[in-house]
Amino acid sequence: MVIQPKIRGFICTNAHPVGCAAHVQEQIDFIKRQGPIADAPQRVLVIGCSTGYGLASRITSAFGAGAKTLGVCFEKEPSAKRTGTAGWYNTAAFHQAARAEGLYADTINGDAFSDEVKAETIAKIKAEMGKVDLVIYSLASPKRKDPESGVVYSSTLKPVGKAYTTKTYDTDKDLIKEISLEPATDEEIADTVKVMGGEDWERWLAALADAGVLADNAKTTAYTYIGKELTWPIYGHATIGKAKEDLDRAAAGIRGEHRELNIEAYVSSLKALVTQASSAIPVMPLYISLIYGVMKEEGTHEGCIEQIYRLFTEALYADDQPLDAAGRLRMDGKETNEATQAKVKELWDQVKQDNFHQLADYEGYHADFLKLFGFGIAGVDYDADVDPEVPWS
Ligand code: NAD
Repeated sequence: MVIQPKIRGFICTNAHPVGCAAHVQEQIDFIKRQGPIADAPQRVLVIGCSTGYGLASRITSAFGAGAKTLGVCFEKEPSAKRTGTAGWYNTAAFHQAARAEGLYADTINGDAFSDEVKAETIAKIKAEMGKVDLVIYSLASPKRKDPESGVVYSSTLKPVGKAYTTKTYDTDKDLIKEISLEPATDEEIADTVKVMGGEDWERWLAALADAGVLADNAKTTAYTYIGKELTWPIYGHATIGKAKEDLDRAAAGIRGEHRELNIEAYVSSLKALVTQASSAIPVMPLYISLIYGVMKEEGTHEGCIEQIYRLFTEALYADDQPLDAAGRLRMDGKETNEATQAKVKELWDQVKQDNFHQLADYEGYHADFLKLFGFGIAGVDYDADVDPEVPWS
C-alpha cells in the first residue's frame, strides 16, 4: 500500500508505519544524546502511552533511565486495507527499539477508564514487573464510560460563564476565521470534569495500591495545560480548565489516601504543542502556530520529548523542584513568561488571513502536525509500497 496523508478537518485519518517509526526513533535518539538520567525510576506505568506527551514519557523512562515500561493506550489495529492509527505504529516501533536493547516493554490496548483494563494491567505488573515506581497519567479523551454507573460522559470545549468570540485557524482549509462559542451549561462542565478531571487518575492509584503493586515512595503525575490570558477563555478558564483544576484536588487526594506508601503525586503543567489532542481544540492551532514562531526566534522552542526530559531531570527527579503556589510542577515557563506572551499578544492582535503565513510559524505547525501521523519525515520514501499490517509484539 502506498500511504499518503488523508486529512479530514483537524485530524489525519491514516498513518504511515515507517514514518511513525522514524518519529519514535528521533525521540529515542534525543534522549540517548542527553545521557542517563540519575535516580530515575526503573518500573514505569504510562497510561496514555502511544502518542504525544505519554509516548515521550515512555521513551524518556526507557531510554533515559533504562526502565521497564508497561503502557496503556487505545489504538486501532491495522488491516490489509486500512492503516492502523499513529499510536499503534508508534507502539510497535517503541516495543521493537526497547526490546532490541533488552528493555522490558509491553502495552495493553483498551479503555483505560474501565475496571477490566485496570485489572489486566495489575495482573501484568504482578507477573512481569513486581511493582511500579512511577505512574504517568497522560490520557486525552473526548469521552469516558463511568465503570460504576455505566454512563458515558462526553467532554465539551466551551467557555464558562459567558459566550466568547475570537479568531481561530482552520488547519484543513488554511483559513483564519472568527468563531463564537456559547458558554457551557453546568451539566456540560460537570461532564467534562468527569472525563478529563482527576477521578480516573485516583481510581488507577487506588487499584494499584490495593493490589500491592505500587512501590513505596512511588511518584505519579498527571499532565495539565495552564497557559495565559490568550488561551484562558477557551482553555484555562473554560470547561477543560475546570476539569484540569480537578486534577489538583485529585493530587492532594492521592497523597492523603496513600500516605503509608509515601506516594508523591503531582500535576505537571506542560507547554502547548501540536498533538492529536490539542489540534482538536478551537483557538489552539492559531495560538500554537504563533507561539512556535516566537519561541523558535527566542531559541526556547521545545517538543514533547524535550519537555518531558526536563520534567524528569529538573522536576520529578530533582532536588530543587519548580513548584508553583498550588504545588504543581511548572515546565511551561518558557511559554508563559510575560515577555514571550507580550510578543504573542502583539501578533495575535495583528494576525489575519493575508498575513498569517508571515506572522505565524505556519510551516512549523504543519510539519509537526503531519509528523504526528508519520508523514513529512526526511529519509522516508512515501512513494514506496509498504505493508500496513505491522504487529505489536
Ligand atoms: P494525545 O492525543 O497525543 O495522547 C492521548 C493518549 O491517550 C494516547 O496514548 C491515546 O491512545 C490515549 N487514550 C485516549 N483515550 C484512551 C482510553 N479511553 N483508554 C486508553 N488510552 C486512551 O494527547 P496529548 O496532547 O499528549 O495529551 C496528554 C496529556 O497532556 C493530556 O492530559 C493533555 O491535557 C496534557 N497536555 C497537553 C498539552 C498539549 O499542548 N498537547 C499541553 C499540556 C498538557
